[in-house]
Amino acid sequence: MNFELTEEQNLLRDSVRRMMDDIATADYIREHDEQGLYPYEVYDQWVEMGLLGLPFPEEFGGYDGNVLDMVIVGEELGRKGYDFLGAYALSVFNALNILRHGSEAQKKQYIPQVINGDIRMSISMTEPDAGSDAGNMRTTAVREGDDWVISGQKLFSTAADAKNNVINLYCKTDTTVPYQKGISLFMVPYDTPGVEIRRLKTLGRRMLGTNEIFFNNVRISDEMRIGEVNEGWDCMLSGLLLERVVTTAGYAGNAQTVVDQALAYAKERKQFGKPIGNFQAIAHMLADMQTKVDASRMLMLRAASKMAKGEKALREVSQAKLFGSETFAEVANMGMQIMGGYSYMMEFDMQRHYRDARSTTITAGTSQMQRNLIANTMGLKVK
Ligand SMILES: Cc1cc2nc3c(=O)[nH]c(=O)nc-3n(C[C@H](O)[C@H](O)[C@H](O)COP(=O)(O)OP(=O)(O)OC[C@H]3O[C@@H](n4cnc5c(N)ncnc54)[C@H](O)[C@@H]3O)c2cc1C
Repeated sequence: MNFELTEEQNLLRDSVRRMMDDIATADYIREHDEQGLYPYEVYDQWVEMGLLGLPFPEEFGGYDGNVLDMVIVGEELGRKGYDFLGAYALSVFNALNILRHGSEAQKKQYIPQVINGDIRMSISMTEPDAGSDAGNMRTTAVREGDDWVISGQKLFSTAADAKNNVINLYCKTDTTVPYQKGISLFMVPYDTPGVEIRRLKTLGRRMLGTNEIFFNNVRISDEMRIGEVNEGWDCMLSGLLLERVVTTAGYAGNAQTVVDQALAYAKERKQFGKPIGNFQAIAHMLADMQTKVDASRMLMLRAASKMAKGEKALREVSQAKLFGSETFAEVANMGMQIMGGYSYMMEFDMQRHYRDARSTTITAGTSQMQRNLIANTMGLKVK
């Protein structure tokens, strides 16, 4: 399999890397992480560069990029911290759902607004009793004339409280049918009357933050429904592989930064009269870390290449997601060990990588759910 980038893709990678180096400085990230501030300035720069338009057709103001272009951007944004990729992915992937399932009027109205930064998007699936088992959700939307009235509670809605956000809300529109049937997708602007958003206190991922949301008889027009009534589950599944592979690219980017920072520290820090990197115990840890990060990157590129050719890639994407997230968490843990007591101080970045990495085996489908998916592609029947 050939993973050579084209000249345009090399240019894309270099320009995104330069832009992120310029704006997402260590001080900027530290301040935003510590204070739980959304990185608006960085997002605005992506808008300026046209990054939000990458996967959309030209007719809506996009650039017709493919999955390989997307993983290049994903990896570069992730290098500075996984949360950056999160902010990008939330807007782009939810807007791609509009492209796939929205009406012509919705596409014309909302896709350009996402590309030019007028609105951003978040997703609300998870509820207190519906996590991995998302189909068990209880939030309802009931039809009243031309409107829908929404009631219920969502949990872990990342960046839902960011300025000009539109919540992409999955909820039940038919409670009489079992499980994933009877779910529909709605766009709910975050400041709609009756929407109450509360920031959760979390270990990491603090720039974007994640929230619980209460929907207290929220009234929205039927024009805000994406796709057919009761077919929201298909909307959610239709973009899943792209979302997971780009997310995995973000893990690889952030994991590589962990290795780079641990390596630089191991060359610099002296104990017993020599750099700690000269101790075999530390050198071998770094060798293992780089090997695993390279392997996770190769799995991610293999999955993306198959998808770019239009081939089925459920197993490959699940393997890349599983290995990429577990590698990220593992190398961040080793990075903490290599940097000793300094890793535990808030002014060093390793603690942030460690905190952020820990979420990745849980979000976007837990490691256990990825193993279930992989096992099922091997002819087993796991639920
Ligand atoms: C930082 C962060 C950001 C998030 N952002 C969002 C967001 O923006 N929008 C959103 O909708 N959600 C979001 N989530 C929620 C996330 O998707 C869920 O946490 C995840 O789906 C797991 O659900 P749960 O936490 O309820 O765990 P549970 O589903 O209760 O799982 C608990 C444990 O049981 C295991 N388990 C469950 N079912 C099975 C099974 N069938 N086989 C084997 N093991 C199983 C799991 O793997 C896990 O180890 C976010 C979560 C976090 C932590």
